[in-house]
Amino acid sequence: MDTNITELSERLTQWGATIEMLPGQVSPHTGNGSNWASADWHWETRTYKVYFPVGYPFHGIYHELLHLVWAGIEGAGCLEVMPGVDSRVVANIAEFNNDLDHAIVIPREIAIYPDAAGFWQADLDRTLRETNFDDRSHLGTLKCKMTLFRGWLVLPHALPNYEITAEYRRRLSVNGWLEAADRMTAGVQQAGRDKMAAVRHLQSGLALDYLNESYCFQRTL
Ligand SMILES: [Zn+2]
Repeated sequence: MDTNITELSERLTQWGATIEMLPGQVSPHTGNGSNWASADWHWETRTYKVYFPVGYPFHGIYHELLHLVWAGIEGAGCLEVMPGVDSRVVANIAEFNNDLDHAIVIPREIAIYPDAAGFWQADLDRTLRETNFDDRSHLGTLKCKMTLFRGWLVLPHALPNYEITAEYRRRLSVNGWLEAADRMTAGVQQAGRDKMAAVRHLQSGLALDYLNESYCFQRTL
């Protein structure tokens, strides 16, 4: 393992987590780990299991550890849903939680591993290609908006001078969404570890009524 990963693992161990590196294994909970790195937090044992393909780039493993630094050591915790909420909403909230973390984690990852920039550029480019911008139906428009706003949480801070950022900006601008997206991204950075404040910025940026504080809360690790 490289020294950045070893150092961060030690910090997390000192904080009270048990870190398990599981190259070549797949999470039994999410099924992730065979194509890209992924990690599960086990609340009872405070164990963080990191799954990744053999030979996976270090930045991706480091990325998973940064998630735990932010959620655990720095106290951002994670968004949780009240019992009884529809499983689709649970999945949505988990994705929003991940997006909010990425606004902090990805710029840090790139600062340590500059080659991670290419990875995230390709990832956000693929997301763009997978979105049908010709579908102007209500649902189609919402999907486009989600793709652009979710990308915008990360891009201005992580890849400010990349063509991919210019492309997201162009598309936001064409739809009249750039101002709201900029406000959301600035608000989320300002909210920092106050995740419910970050949720309010997401909510007003996206104008989503279903992203609602009545069923979702911030849980400390
Ligand atoms: Zn991540």
